[in-house]
Amino acid sequence: MPGHLPELPARAGIGAGDVDTVVLTHLHEDHNGWRVTADGAPVFPDADHLVQRRETDALGEEDTATTHVVRPLREAGLLRQIDGRRRIPYGRAGSLTLVPTPGHTPGHQSVLAESGTRDVVITGDVLVHAVQLADPAVAYHYEADPATAARSRRRLLEEAGERGALLATAHLRRAFVDAREGLPAPVGAGRRMRRGGDPSPDPRPARYRPAATR
Ligand SMILES: [Zn+2]
Repeated sequence: MPGHLPELPARAGIGAGDVDTVVLTHLHEDHNGWRVTADGAPVFPDADHLVQRRETDALGEEDTATTHVVRPLREAGLLRQIDGRRRIPYGRAGSLTLVPTPGHTPGHQSVLAESGTRDVVITGDVLVHAVQLADPAVAYHYEADPATAARSRRRLLEEAGERGALLATAHLRRAFVDAREGLPAPVGAGRRMRRGGDPSPDPRPARYRPAATR
C-alpha cells in the first residue's frame, strides 16, 4: 500500500509505540493498509485495533484481509472486536465514538471525534463521491447493501450536520468538508427547469461545491 503513514506521525514527534488506538472503518484493502508490515509485524505494536465484529465475521478464512490483517493482529493480541456504538473517552474532555454505518460493508463504522472544540466525523467509505452529500440516496457500485448504505449515509450526515461537524473523508477531492454543506436542502429550496422552460422549485438541489469552483 503506497503512502507515508509511518513517516508522517514521526515528523510530528509521534512514534509508532505512542499510538494506543487504531480504528478500522472497514476491511477493504484501501482502508486496512499499514496495520502490519510485509513480515506480518504490527506497525503500531502497542495499539488496540478496533473493528466491528460484524466486519470480521463476514470475512472468509482465505480473504486477504483475514490472512494479512485480522489474523496477525489477533495473534499479536491487538485486535478488539466491537459490537455496535461505543464511546471511548480520552484526555480530559475528548472522546472517540465508533458509529456503526453498515451497508458499504456489513460491519462498516465511522468515527465521531470530540475534543471540546469542533467535532470531526471520519466517514470511511460512507461517502465516496461529493454527489452523495447532495443526495445520500446515490449508491456506489461496490456497496454490499446499497439500501442499508443509503440509510447509514443519511443518518450520519444528519448527525454530523446537527453537530456542525467537519467531515473527514477518504475519497472526496477535499479531505475536510463542512457537514452543513452536505445536508439536503428542504423541498422547494432550489430551482430546476420545467418542460416549458420556466424555472421551478427543485426538490433536491446540489449544494456541494468542489474546491475548484470556489
Ligand atoms: Zn471500501
